[in-house]
Amino acid sequence: MSSARLSGVGVSSGRASGPVVRVAEPLGEPPATPAPADPAAESARIRPAADVVAQRLLARAETVEGDAKAVLETTAAMASDPSLLAQAEKLVTDESLPAARAVHQAAGGFITMLQAAGGYMAERARDVQDVRDRLVAELLGLAAPGVPDLDGPSVLVARDLAPADTAGLDPTKVLALVTEEGGPTSHTAILARSLGIPAVVAVRGVLAFTGTALAVDGDTGDVRESDGTVRSAGNTGKPTWNGIGILRDGHRVKVLGNVGSPADAAAAAAAGAEGVGLFRTEFCFLSATEEPTVEEQRKAYAVVLTPFAGKPVVVRTLDAGADKPLAFLAPEPEPNPALGVRGVRVAFDKPEIIDRQLEAIALAAKDSGADVSVMAPMVATAAEAAWFVKRARAAGIPRAGVMIEIPAAAMTAREIAAVVDFVSLGTNDLAQYLFAADRQVGAVAALNDPWQPALLRLIKLVGEVGVETGTPVGVCGEAAADPLLACVLTGMGVTSLSMNHTALAGVGAKLAATSLDVCQLAARGALAAADPASAKIAARAPH
Ligand code: PEP
Ligand code: MG
Repeated sequence: MSSARLSGVGVSSGRASGPVVRVAEPLGEPPATPAPADPAAESARIRPAADVVAQRLLARAETVEGDAKAVLETTAAMASDPSLLAQAEKLVTDESLPAARAVHQAAGGFITMLQAAGGYMAERARDVQDVRDRLVAELLGLAAPGVPDLDGPSVLVARDLAPADTAGLDPTKVLALVTEEGGPTSHTAILARSLGIPAVVAVRGVLAFTGTALAVDGDTGDVRESDGTVRSAGNTGKPTWNGIGILRDGHRVKVLGNVGSPADAAAAAAAGAEGVGLFRTEFCFLSATEEPTVEEQRKAYAVVLTPFAGKPVVVRTLDAGADKPLAFLAPEPEPNPALGVRGVRVAFDKPEIIDRQLEAIALAAKDSGADVSVMAPMVATAAEAAWFVKRARAAGIPRAGVMIEIPAAAMTAREIAAVVDFVSLGTNDLAQYLFAADRQVGAVAALNDPWQPALLRLIKLVGEVGVETGTPVGVCGEAAADPLLACVLTGMGVTSLSMNHTALAGVGAKLAATSLDVCQLAARGALAAADPASAKIAARAPH
């Protein structure tokens, strides 16, 4: 990067600069060959490496308090576990394995045992994996994988982040996030927005950047080398909104929050959301190794629902798979996970899973006093929609709908509308499947732009069905979070818009300054455009 300047897709607003910390790539399984020339010497490398790892963890523990301290101390103790180390040493001397492979294999035995024991023990399997990876990295002379512990405010650079890694980021330490992969609708982008961390994704060449500091603009997508001074401008010019989704002429469009955790729910309520249009329940269980019980689910959901007592909340059943894997719902390995058994499809073979979840949702609705509806993700046909609605009704949940996020569902919206109480457009997946463009792949990020006219035309089909049949049509994909696009969607017949808490005021204020006529004109212009840039220009014209 001699010009010290890169660019990508800005996905989370704000500007920041500071020292770079790189997220190391997953290590994979270390090779079993070549056999060490001197197995005794190779085996003697294991304990010193374990000491280094344990000392590093204990040093970190000294700098924190409470749960974080306890977790680090326990992990340090695991790194020095005598039986783990003895087994690894034996594998080196008896089977002539390289030390890194021996540690991997020995830890594998413990992990399998813990997972088989289930419950609390199974949760510890993840800790052993963490220790294993740190030890293997140390023996191979590589950086430990995953998000490193941050000593101070930093700009994180990664190929991409798993949802659990992104959700765990500390916004007080992560100044900005820059990834080589990912698109405007990837979960890295969605989570960065909800944490208020400026982020730029699909930055070609950032992994090869060797400098020590970066300045990041989450609005323009500009990423350039900086002098290492820590600066953070955050979001500028926050609009004001009175918390009612209403156009200037009195036309109502509900402005709702997208949530996935108690913190999101509190933030959405504080920002004035009229309710929740999408509760991503899978985000409550990203680290669970076993299916949570009905009681565990009930508690987890009730905490998220409580800030919305008396208000509408759409709870989406688990959308596991592809970019949001859940260990306890892992399908057989698939060549194309985004096209495989994900979302509601998981439940077709295991209906008891969705029935238990619906039971927990119904209980949490009573506990919290929220006005709860349920919605299924990844529905492709009217028959699937009817299957889901029947189960929701059997669980005593009065309102049930489905997401329209597969083009086939959009094209049969009329048949689907006949069997549900509402639909909600998942524009993130709808774009991914319409354009055959993986939402996690940086190189195809432009196709996942929600202003793509082809996507708008598909949305219009659904909006028209909604108007003609009186079926409420929401949008809960990232398209709803763009104030100008929110007007276009309203002009196409959409009745509610659901978004990240950071977008609520901007969208609410824009709608309040616009009339339905203007929204319809904006929609007409955008629909007739040939590309995203001209769609935006056409939508701006009548304002
Ligand atoms: C979508 O696909 O637009 C959506 C809202 O669901 P998710 O982003 O969770 O896949
Ligand atoms: Mg989706």
